[in-house]
Amino acid sequence: MSEEVPKKGKAGVVVNEGADFRVEVQEVDVPEIKDDELLVRLNCTGLCMSDIHFMANDWALPPMSAFGVRCAGHEGAGVVVKVGNAVKDWKVGDRAGIKPLSDVCHNCEECWNGRDNYCPKGVYAGLMSQGTYQQYLASPAIYTSRIPDGVPDEVAGPIMCSASTMHRALIDSGLKPGNWVVFPGGGGGVGIQGVQLAKYVRVK
Ligand SMILES: [Zn+2]
Ligand SMILES: [Zn+2]
Repeated sequence: MSEEVPKKGKAGVVVNEGADFRVEVQEVDVPEIKDDELLVRLNCTGLCMSDIHFMANDWALPPMSAFGVRCAGHEGAGVVVKVGNAVKDWKVGDRAGIKPLSDVCHNCEECWNGRDNYCPKGVYAGLMSQGTYQQYLASPAIYTSRIPDGVPDEVAGPIMCSASTMHRALIDSGLKPGNWVVFPGGGGGVGIQGVQLAKYVRVK
């Protein structure tokens, strides 16, 4: 099952990876998907500070180019336009989100206990696999996030990284409704999500 998908799509490709990097809009091939993957047409992507670090190559990690990755980005929201032959529970037209990990091993202590973000075999989107600064992206169906109706793409995108970071922090903090919580740097991209999430829980 598929809808008309072009051969080429636009992508924000990192050029001159390193301190003087810039992002150039280029035409790139739309990826072929494997049997267990979805092809997602992205409508929105967030810009996370980690993306800047990946493109600037100033973290103690191998550079994006070492993995053959040209696009950063890991806060994507879009729609499924093609479904791999072995995928049963997704269909064309479903809304889909791309998060910081594009896949994990699904078969380790961390993955089994809901701590898949610590999976030692995690594949980081925008560093180790193509990121969301492009129109079309292949994503493993089993690890693609669903976006419910009523959440606009531009809201869903940043939820994939910054808001989910805060969501987990709030849960792990053990705070109860009615407690006060303070966010140092609450005006930043992550903190502002914490303020909104904490307020929502409090008034609910
Ligand atoms: Zn991020
Ligand atoms: Zn794992």
